[in-house]
Amino acid sequence: MSENLHLCKCLFCLKNYPNGNFVTKSVYYRHRKRNQMSIEEESSNSEQEENVEEKDINLNLKNNEVSIINYNLLNIYLLINKI
Ligand SMILES: [Zn+2]
Repeated sequence: MSENLHLCKCLFCLKNYPNGNFVTKSVYYRHRKRNQMSIEEESSNSEQEENVEEKDINLNLKNNEVSIINYNLLNIYLLINKI
C-alpha cells in the first residue's frame, strides 16, 4: 500500500459512508469531477423549477386582478341600474 488515500466526500460516497470514504487519488479526482457535474445539473434543474413557479404566481396575480376589475364593473353596473 504505497498509494496515498484521500478522504472522498462526494454525494455517492457519503451515501454509503456518511463520514466520507477513503479512496485512491485517481478515484478521488474522478468522484470529485462527477460530484461537481451532478451538483451543477441539480442547480440548473432547480433554477428552471423556480422560474416555472414564478410564472404560475404571476398568472395567479393576473387572474386575481381580472376578477377584481370584473367585480368593480359589476358594482358600477348595479349602481347605475339603481339610479
Ligand atoms: Zn467519492
